Amino acid sequence: MSDRKKRSKPAWLRMPTMGAEGAAEVRSILRKHNLETVCSQARCPNMGHCYQRGTATFLILGSVCTRTCGYCAIEHSACPPPPPDPDEPARVAGAAAEMGLSYVVVTSVTRDDLPDGGAGHFAKTVSEIRKLLPEAMIEVLTPDFRGAETSLQIISDASPDVFNHNLETVRALFPAVRPEASYDLSLEVLRKYGRMSPSTPLKSGLMAGLGEEIEDIRKAITDLREAGVTMLTLGQYLQPTSEHLAVDRFVHPREFDEWKAFAESIGFRSVASGPLVRSSFHADLSFPASDGAHGGLSE
Ligand code: SF4
Repeated sequence: MSDRKKRSKPAWLRMPTMGAEGAAEVRSILRKHNLETVCSQARCPNMGHCYQRGTATFLILGSVCTRTCGYCAIEHSACPPPPPDPDEPARVAGAAAEMGLSYVVVTSVTRDDLPDGGAGHFAKTVSEIRKLLPEAMIEVLTPDFRGAETSLQIISDASPDVFNHNLETVRALFPAVRPEASYDLSLEVLRKYGRMSPSTPLKSGLMAGLGEEIEDIRKAITDLREAGVTMLTLGQYLQPTSEHLAVDRFVHPREFDEWKAFAESIGFRSVASGPLVRSSFHADLSFPASDGAHGGLSE
């Protein structure tokens, strides 16, 4: 894992500047509904692009996380953050309706301070969106809820269309990258959810460029497939600030193509793999056409 000095980005990581109109409209809707997005909180390089497309990933349960992942720009705190705002689910639904979204992605900080880890708040947000946008697809990108079946069941009972939980990195790098999480626990969360809701596509994501061995990326892709995941995102890690983990290397787009081909060869139905790919980047476009959702390797 290299020192924390910022590196200059190669050409393939320079995002073309997008027209501002669509983005400005999204920002004003978010302000009006007093909402956060992971796009802005995590300093996503695609924010302008996605806002211009009229999409955004809503961040619920506040903007302060109880964990300290080494790659994440979201504010952390050891003290319990403020309690969830009971009106937030309805505000998310209101904003999604005003944005005219057909695919809504909802994510959150990790709230290890809450008895259900915030699962009830996620479920309420899904049902509020369903009231205003009955036709919209809803993807939830959740924390690991420390693997609690009760929390996963609450989410499953709300029937989101896609269940997403990011593995983020390879097993060897977990202590540095996700110190409060566990590689096996995250895989188990996906497996458990798959058992609870066999017809819901499972999705997960990985970052590259943090110092992982190339073979470890293939192993992580295989482990995700064995856990029943059929939708995968792979992107380049970018250092949000000099306080965060440094980029070990900028992965060439060719390698992302190779990982995409490998993932598809072992049965993933939807693979978005590229330097600027993020877990909900073009999420609306990556929903697989009717598939068997789960099932074993190399069907
Ligand atoms: S758990 Fe999520 S929000 Fe919290 S620090 Fe880690 S990546 Fe960021």
